[in-house]
Amino acid sequence: MSKEDPAVEQLKKDLFYEAKHASDLMSDDELRAADEFCEGYKAFLNKARTERECAAEAIRLAEENGFTEFDPDQSYFPGDKIWYCERGKAVILCVIGRLKCTEGVRIAAAHIDSPRLDLKPNPLYESSDIGYFKTHYYGGIKKYQWTCIPLSLHGVVVRSDGAEITVSIGDEPDEPKFVISDLLPHLAASQMKRTLSEGVKGEELNIIIGSRKYSGYDGKDAVKLAVMSILNEKYGITEKDFVSAELEAVPAFKADDIGFDRSLIGAYGHDDRVDAYPELIAALDVEMPEKTVVAVLTDKEEIGSEGNTGLQGAYLKYFIWDLARTDGLDGFDVLAMSECLSADVNAAYDPTFPEVFDKQNSSYLNRGVTVTKYTGSRGKSSSNDASAEFVGKVTRLFDSKSVCWQTGELGKVDEGGGGTVAKYIADLGADVVDIGVPVLSMHSPYELVAKSDIYSAYRAIYEFFMQQ
Ligand code: MN
Ligand code: MN
Repeated sequence: MSKEDPAVEQLKKDLFYEAKHASDLMSDDELRAADEFCEGYKAFLNKARTERECAAEAIRLAEENGFTEFDPDQSYFPGDKIWYCERGKAVILCVIGRLKCTEGVRIAAAHIDSPRLDLKPNPLYESSDIGYFKTHYYGGIKKYQWTCIPLSLHGVVVRSDGAEITVSIGDEPDEPKFVISDLLPHLAASQMKRTLSEGVKGEELNIIIGSRKYSGYDGKDAVKLAVMSILNEKYGITEKDFVSAELEAVPAFKADDIGFDRSLIGAYGHDDRVDAYPELIAALDVEMPEKTVVAVLTDKEEIGSEGNTGLQGAYLKYFIWDLARTDGLDGFDVLAMSECLSADVNAAYDPTFPEVFDKQNSSYLNRGVTVTKYTGSRGKSSSNDASAEFVGKVTRLFDSKSVCWQTGELGKVDEGGGGTVAKYIADLGADVVDIGVPVLSMHSPYELVAKSDIYSAYRAIYEFFMQQ
């Protein structure tokens, strides 16, 4: 047989598998729809910089779309739309299905917390006439990436009088920003000999917040006093109130189109708002589903899903138990029959660093939403490891609805690894598989994703919610 035998080429097409590029799979109209969808995503990113702000924005959009707050003492009927919020940091959107929830519910879960720098409980100090905030980083970061970039500050301070003050400063054009300094190369000879992980140390991530002395005062801590008086004037707080605060420094970059073709988006917080937003919009678009739809936007994934707003907490389980009770049913009957897409990002293949990826088991930009059978590290440790049956069911659905999808595992065997919320929902008895958008430069202050993949994630989650 010659090399170009058309019969052989056809046979290879029939027998071999490789995920196709979105440009080959999606029509021009669909790519335009993806671009349009991503305008909404960029606006969401620019507005919602933290888990609290994401939760508030999700509730605002939900109410705009006919959702009302969940009341466990009320009865709900097919088509009803409800939202539930866990302590301001995690949200569940729910659309009641035609079938009783003993038939199971359809869950999608993405996280809305992202790696960042949290202020320490006693953060304020001055050194050589410069005012600083001390930080403790949240989630896995490469610390050197967080110096010399503009930062904004978000969160809440609970004052000694009990008042809760909301803080958001540094993202509007007329607002001041904050920054962490790094050494000039001229004097970095010793620093350059440090390993990359120690290049900038945790205790060196100190944020510059001021440099003028309190007017007319030349004594000790004059800069600290000047900063504290501004904060007192603006927010009515004293230094002690930082103890009862959650203030997060995040990159002050806006979301931008990247590339001459505008096919990519560069932004802070794609992990995991790039899955949370498609999930949110899919839940808003659902009308009268067969099975009840439960869209979870959770907190604390980046530090192991711990705490009462993370998915190791009980709030999802209790929500479903409450929901079951409104139907006169038991919650555990519902969970065992339920199915879940755990929506989180995967590492996109990076041609500049090919050595850490298994080329034929990596996800790629622009090949659609990634179906990830297992996560974990060192022999799949701490992974959900979805069943062949459930992966088969989900991928058949995606194929039947022409959803652009690919498969991928996070890096080569023993190169590292990572986890998602999948295993915590599987612990409740549901069938779970990971899906999500591939990301370049994950956990950096400016992550990169492809618009076609974001739209594919939206379509995947919507079709999962609406399947018969
Ligand atoms: Mn994630
Ligand atoms: Mn992450």
